[in-house]
Amino acid sequence: MTAQKKRTVLVTGGAGYIGSHVCKELHHQGYTPVTYDNMSKGHQWAVKWGPLVEGDLHDSKTLQQAFDTYQPIAVMHFAASIEVGESVEAPIKYYRNNVGGSLNLLQIMLENNCKQIVFSSTAATYGAPQTELIDETHPQNPINPYGASKLMVERIIRDCCLSDQLRFVFLRYFNACGADSDVEIGESHTPETHLIPIVMQAAAGDREKLYIFGDDYHTPDGTCLRDYIHVEDLAAAHILALESLLSGATSNEFNLGTGQGYSVREIIQAAEKVVGHAIPYEVHAKRAGDPPVLVASSKKAEQQLNWSPQKNLTEILTSAWRWYQKQT
Ligand code: UDP
Repeated sequence: MTAQKKRTVLVTGGAGYIGSHVCKELHHQGYTPVTYDNMSKGHQWAVKWGPLVEGDLHDSKTLQQAFDTYQPIAVMHFAASIEVGESVEAPIKYYRNNVGGSLNLLQIMLENNCKQIVFSSTAATYGAPQTELIDETHPQNPINPYGASKLMVERIIRDCCLSDQLRFVFLRYFNACGADSDVEIGESHTPETHLIPIVMQAAAGDREKLYIFGDDYHTPDGTCLRDYIHVEDLAAAHILALESLLSGATSNEFNLGTGQGYSVREIIQAAEKVVGHAIPYEVHAKRAGDPPVLVASSKKAEQQLNWSPQKNLTEILTSAWRWYQKQT
């Protein structure tokens, strides 16, 4: 086996938003990221730091070929359907893609003796918070099929770990946002459902206005609070998680956020400062499946992975705005 192969990591969903930022960081840290993506939502332009294998997680043959060709030492698993609202409308799609696809991936991993996985999980596995800050001991009671599908995959991976077939790190992101500092890659979904890119569209005049989904939540200004974490901070955590597994650490799970919640209104106000003008919006009905508050305690990641977020909200919005302007 060559030195390069020893550091090859299979990145499912590597053509997507978070996956592509992690591929860039893997490359900078001396790994070869091999993107495995069905390109249903991913972008060719986002695959710049290693080979692309175009394939679906349900396609065992193509997946096996990727393992044969690249012999990855570990898998980072991002490929999934990720929209909360859509998951409420189309739950079967979420269980099929997220649970079914992961089962297939895990099976191929085990058959190929690839025993280390960093799994892209989510704050949505916790459901409605019972404490102000959510740490990893918080009960996991998801309130939408997206969160439920991710929690099921966690459970399956845990069971594989108990039978000594795998070691894992689960990374539960809060709200991933922002774009690459070099403005090479960033968030681009069709249709766009995430708040910050929608705010940018409205700021640029590419959307007449944005809708605030509910302003009568039990929060200080009535709009939902979220913990917005820069995608480059997430990428850094993935490298630390991978390296903990490669150095033999036991399986673990970490929340990744800043510990600071911002309301939808606060995001709009902060974005107005970044873009330099007012952004049109209107209050709309609540969106099904949205918990009022989701804010992380990431103390465990700080203590055990030696990770801490570096980017504040202004940096997040500035990078998102630069990326948005570059795209259009
Ligand atoms: N949101 C909103 N208008 C939009 C999109 C999102 O008010 O057009 C709100 C949404 O209800 C949530 C927050 O913004 O409270 C973040 O939503 P997003 O979809 O970005 O991420 P999620 O929290 O669902 O993962």
